[in-house]
Amino acid sequence: MWFLNDMVKKKQKFEDVPSRVNVSELEQGILQYWEKENIFKKSLDNNKDNQQFTFYDGPPYATGKPHYGHILQSTIKDTVLRYKTMRGYFVPRRVGWDCHGLPVETLVEKEMGIKSKRDIEDKVGIEQFNKRCRDTVFRYIEDFTSTLKRMGRWADYDNAYATLNRDYMETEWWVFNKLWEQGLVYQAFRSTPYCIRCATPLSNFEVTINYRDTRDTAVYIMLPVVNEDNLFLLVWTTTPWTLPGNVAVAFNPDPSFKYVIVRDGERQLILEKSRAVVLFGEQVEVVKELTAADMADLEGYEPLYPEVLEKMENLDRVKMYRLVKSGHVVTDEGTGLVHIAPAFGEEDAEIGKKQGLPTLRTVDTGGKFTADVAKWAGENIFQANEKIVTDLEERRLLLKSEKYQHSYPFCWRCDTPLIYYALDSWFVKINGSGLKERMLSAAEKIDWTPEHIKKGRFWKGIESAPDWAVSRNRYWSVPMPVWQCDQCNEKVCVSSIEQLKDLSGATEEQVADIHRPYVDDITWSCSCQGTLKRVEEVLDVWFDAGSMPYAQLHFPFENEQQVKKSFPADFIVEAVEQTRLWFYVMHVLALALTDKKVSGQVGLGEDSPAFLSAIGSGLIFAEDGRKLSKKLKNYPEPEPTIEKYGADVLRLYLLSSASLGEPYRFAEKDLRRVQSNTYMTLWNVYSFFVRYANTHNWQPSTKAGVSANVLDVWITTRLKEFKSEVIEATEKYQVDKAARKFIPFIDDLSNWYVRRSRNRFQRPIDAKERDETFGTLYAVLVEVTKIMAPYMPFVSEAMYRNLVKAGESVHLEKIETIGELGEAEQKILLEMAKAREAVAVGLALRAKKGIKVRQPLRALLVKGEEMKADLQIMVCDEINVKEVRFVKEFVDHEAYVKSEEGGGVEAMLDTEITEDLKSEGLAREVVRHGQVLRREAAYALDDRIELIYVTDDRELDKVLEDNSAYILEALQAEEVIREKAEADAGKDIEINGKKLYLGVRK
Ligand SMILES: [Zn+2]
Ligand SMILES: [Zn+2]
Repeated sequence: MWFLNDMVKKKQKFEDVPSRVNVSELEQGILQYWEKENIFKKSLDNNKDNQQFTFYDGPPYATGKPHYGHILQSTIKDTVLRYKTMRGYFVPRRVGWDCHGLPVETLVEKEMGIKSKRDIEDKVGIEQFNKRCRDTVFRYIEDFTSTLKRMGRWADYDNAYATLNRDYMETEWWVFNKLWEQGLVYQAFRSTPYCIRCATPLSNFEVTINYRDTRDTAVYIMLPVVNEDNLFLLVWTTTPWTLPGNVAVAFNPDPSFKYVIVRDGERQLILEKSRAVVLFGEQVEVVKELTAADMADLEGYEPLYPEVLEKMENLDRVKMYRLVKSGHVVTDEGTGLVHIAPAFGEEDAEIGKKQGLPTLRTVDTGGKFTADVAKWAGENIFQANEKIVTDLEERRLLLKSEKYQHSYPFCWRCDTPLIYYALDSWFVKINGSGLKERMLSAAEKIDWTPEHIKKGRFWKGIESAPDWAVSRNRYWSVPMPVWQCDQCNEKVCVSSIEQLKDLSGATEEQVADIHRPYVDDITWSCSCQGTLKRVEEVLDVWFDAGSMPYAQLHFPFENEQQVKKSFPADFIVEAVEQTRLWFYVMHVLALALTDKKVSGQVGLGEDSPAFLSAIGSGLIFAEDGRKLSKKLKNYPEPEPTIEKYGADVLRLYLLSSASLGEPYRFAEKDLRRVQSNTYMTLWNVYSFFVRYANTHNWQPSTKAGVSANVLDVWITTRLKEFKSEVIEATEKYQVDKAARKFIPFIDDLSNWYVRRSRNRFQRPIDAKERDETFGTLYAVLVEVTKIMAPYMPFVSEAMYRNLVKAGESVHLEKIETIGELGEAEQKILLEMAKAREAVAVGLALRAKKGIKVRQPLRALLVKGEEMKADLQIMVCDEINVKEVRFVKEFVDHEAYVKSEEGGGVEAMLDTEITEDLKSEGLAREVVRHGQVLRREAAYALDDRIELIYVTDDRELDKVLEDNSAYILEALQAEEVIREKAEADAGKDIEINGKKLYLGVRK
């Protein structure tokens, strides 16, 4: 009899949990609950007086809905910050928006049909253009945030910072002024990366964003040596358009470079010997070897375009068109002789400066040849390339041209190939100012995930950083706060709006918006009678992002204490490519502001990085290995995917699928696997628990002693292990590692603990067993909701709210750290692991012999020490043997199959099927069919039934007779009817060739 029968069906304690869950409905319901009950705000308020955990949220450009990369970063942010909140920290979370710069400008240009930069000033006007930019910026923010909110990302969305706010911009002026005061800002005429379509220089780190493999034409050009017949310098270039800007040819004076004159038909060519072999083959005819002194003594060569010179004035022609020495010359490609055009290359400019050579600016700021290059004046340089090659060919100066495959940088906003271009621009002095050395030493204080970024990408990026080209010749950005006298060139760097008003007498209305063109109208008189006017440039948009730690709170004009308290950030995370972008610029500015020259006055400490730990999250590709592409439709759209699988499943999938920082492929089949193997498995355990707790009227208030059941002890210990592993990994921000711990734990919980304990839940033998069993699983599930809350915030909330009636939200709970497992606890896990391995081996041996598990067998022999008795029972039950025996050595026997040697557990299975065993096997088959019929008849779990069976087979009849007690109990049957009778469900079945009619009725 079931002791609980009379108590069943009283008022249910837990809300019923359907075995199939509509995740979309469930999650939407939780979102509404959080919103209605202000749970996020409560989670902040609860910890307000506790220690602060600071997080800086990098401002994205909202130019559309977020892609999976954004969703991954958002998930990492949310997981870590929820976790820290549950650890007791006060964790304010403010999002922000990047508003300025080329991303917006190029979008607006496209929409307004603007063809060239000149049109902005001449046709549209800066005021209209910037107004349009401002209107565009917030267009997609609603779209962007709605996806993040749906993913469960908690943040202060209403109070977001935006880089176009005047307060934000004023702080940037202040930051810039701090660099200026330290002499870190200078202006120089220098060759820098440049986009001819956007008509602005770019910084070295912007160049790295958009490298692509491309095919260009490489040409070998012959430069006639003066006063010689048929003797040429052979140079090589992939940018023919730079040739009109040529002023010299460089060679490497190092003795390892062997320059030679070789014969090529009528003519003789000068080049490096190893390159000559590559170009002309081993049999190349060397006429003469040249020393470095010979090379330097060569008189020079005839200019390719003498007409360019005629138009230019004040050129020191004596120095031009000669051979110059340079250690930069290499022999990986080309000829070992390098054509030098100081206007169009960093190294070229350096060599030009050293040699006192002029810079021929043969290209205008829009990428067209100037009037000086008469042949192609006004033509786009890229389009003129072919014509230049043809022209050289006609003039018999081209040795050959070939297609050349290489990786080349393109503009990160408009995809135009970048060039190097010499112009006046402003730089932040990273080199030679002590800043770089301080940046490197402060970089030691930052922890990275993945770890290799620290001494890899980040470190090397700093080490090799050139000075930061910080000015842009554009419109929609923070104007550089520098005013210059048009007479005496006196410069003033303004650090605040108040100061600007003081200097210029501008009214509040005039400084209401400090964007261009309004700020350009503000001028004042110089002591020399000249007028101070703002320089034309605006700041690099990365200066906006880099100023975020201070500017988001309008430091130092407001919130002084708050910023001081929250600097540096404890934690940041963005896509790994931000290592040399946002992470880098924040680092530059932080070190500049904490230099001891200004640190006293700034108050943010000395030599401090902007953040103490950072995660660089990896790129996500489509399943086909290509980039996620809207055009190719090679990935499922995020929004329907979230509704289909749920934000929790997507979060766990994104976190667990690859090591942080590593790229991976987004595959829906993997998402489905996380859903069925982990999410639904957990849900089924939860649903199972609630169903039987309600059936048996068990309530969490029921006090039970500590269970001594081997499975209860084991799952409690396993939970402890799981919890300490998740905490340990999350503390180190290894959310990927932590997320991967969920999968085996939930599998253990369901496929071992619950499965092995099923009978105790369904039919506990007494109140003690009931209370111990339910008490154990209840405690495990409640604890799991807490550990899981930062990772899968929705399902953990749903479970918690049903399981813990008094609890408002699992996210208001605390996660307490626990120590490592003790020796005794480790032993518990180890013993169970061994037992499970014995099961696995036993099942494998059965499979090998093709014996069904329902067929009982006599014994499994295991080599080694004896297991605990209750574990032995478990093993017997799992592999359906009568006993497990422990032996020192195996003895061969024809009925025994042995496991492979070298595994963790070595075992041997006795496969002899005696008459008794055979009969028992048949009985089990009958029970299995009986259970199917019970389900077909839709009986309740505790319904008592009658069993009907009819057979002509005498052997089967005897089996049923002999095993009737077992069959009755297993099928909850009270009686057997041995003739055809009316049944609720019944059918003819065949077991091992024996026919039987089986039926059930109530
Ligand atoms: Zn561009
Ligand atoms: Zn002046």
